[in-house]
Amino acid sequence: MERKNAWAKYDAAGMEKIEAFARNYCAFLDNGKTERECVAQAVKAAQDAGFIDLMQAAKEGRQLTAGDKVYVNWMNKSFMCFVVGREPLEMGMNILGAHIDSPRLDVKQNPLYEESELAYLDTHYYGGIKKYQWVAQPLALHGVFCKKDGSTVTVAIGEDAADPVFYITDLLIHLAQEQMTKTAAKVIEGEELNLLIGGKPVQDEDKASVTAGVLAILKEKYGVEEEDFLSAELEIVPAGKARDVGFDRSLIAAYGHDDRVCAYPSMQAVLDFEGVPAYTVCAVLTDKEEIGSVGATGMDSRFFENVVAEFADLAGAKGDLALRRVLKNSRMLSSDVSAGFDPNFAAAFEKKNAAFLGRGVCFNKYTGSRGKSGSNDANAEYIAQLRRILDDAEVAFQTCELGRVDLGGGGTIAYMCAKYGMNVIDAGVAVLSMHAPYEIISKVDLYEAYLGYCAFLRDARPL
Ligand code: MN
Ligand code: MN
Repeated sequence: MERKNAWAKYDAAGMEKIEAFARNYCAFLDNGKTERECVAQAVKAAQDAGFIDLMQAAKEGRQLTAGDKVYVNWMNKSFMCFVVGREPLEMGMNILGAHIDSPRLDVKQNPLYEESELAYLDTHYYGGIKKYQWVAQPLALHGVFCKKDGSTVTVAIGEDAADPVFYITDLLIHLAQEQMTKTAAKVIEGEELNLLIGGKPVQDEDKASVTAGVLAILKEKYGVEEEDFLSAELEIVPAGKARDVGFDRSLIAAYGHDDRVCAYPSMQAVLDFEGVPAYTVCAVLTDKEEIGSVGATGMDSRFFENVVAEFADLAGAKGDLALRRVLKNSRMLSSDVSAGFDPNFAAAFEKKNAAFLGRGVCFNKYTGSRGKSGSNDANAEYIAQLRRILDDAEVAFQTCELGRVDLGGGGTIAYMCAKYGMNVIDAGVAVLSMHAPYEIISKVDLYEAYLGYCAFLRDARPL
């Protein structure tokens, strides 16, 4: 049952392939710190790879045949792409699904205020975070202001070396005697996550005001007024780029590995698909996973089903029963990160069933908490097929659980896709410090995930 370390498989030429893939992935991360930025990159990559807009094809009543490539931009926050296969669509698709939202701080709708001649934006955190990890470090502001005239102003401030950054303060250690006795959950509380955005008063009518100065800059540089915050989506993320970690540069520290480390290779596996697949292949990059896959761009909405319905109608599976068959007969990898075994916190794991960095694709048969509650629990028959596919392709994989029984837990999009009756399992990459501002992955696991996803798209078949 021993799983080998995947690095051992590679010679110098193989290592260069791992490096090249990792470099492209880091560029995707650096340019994709929000779900919107990830979708913009995915749309461009799809167009460059010759994919056409599915909704446009639907409008034109264009029929799709084997080898045709289409994509969908769903509300600028979720993305899907397909390559039509040779076999009838009703025999199901090979689907890769991952999410492109990550834990962060969102700016409130009425955020701007001034206190003691400093200006702030008030925030509401998004997803599961340790709040104390977000203070005392440079932060960047990414997002959109949607204006009443229908125009959108896109901002990404704090990434360029010439940009200013933003900051949330912590209490100095000299005065922290009381703070240091609090539990970690209370050391920094949600309403203390206030983003420092200015400190220079300017004369505004009869008084000097820092917020007036900030608003003047917003007006001048971006053409937005204070009221435009009402229809803005602004996300505060760590400032800075993905970096190699370690003397051997085998690891990557970056914001948002969860779950872009699965989303990027999933998307790339479909975009890179050469020739005509036996069964239609599909990638879905979805939003809102970190807050329960809710909303019109999350996996629990019917956007996925609606897009497949549009696609099926053009690809020869017309009508409701045909659509149900397409979904029921599909195979899916719900690609999400797994908790990597951390020697610093060994007691949180059960070592025989933990994910290890460097050992390749992580299959989580089930997630959930308190007795697998809320989990998908994939079928053994399906896992057997996946073992064969990955072994035949010589892709390193491991099976794992999210930590020790009854210590905590978590969920993914797997159970929502399982509602259609399809076979689905969680298959992702091991991460250290998951949900921290900077998370760690191994480059070889990223590459094994890509190779594993390619093999799955090529070789998975109806059970
Ligand atoms: Mn995730
Ligand atoms: Mn997560």
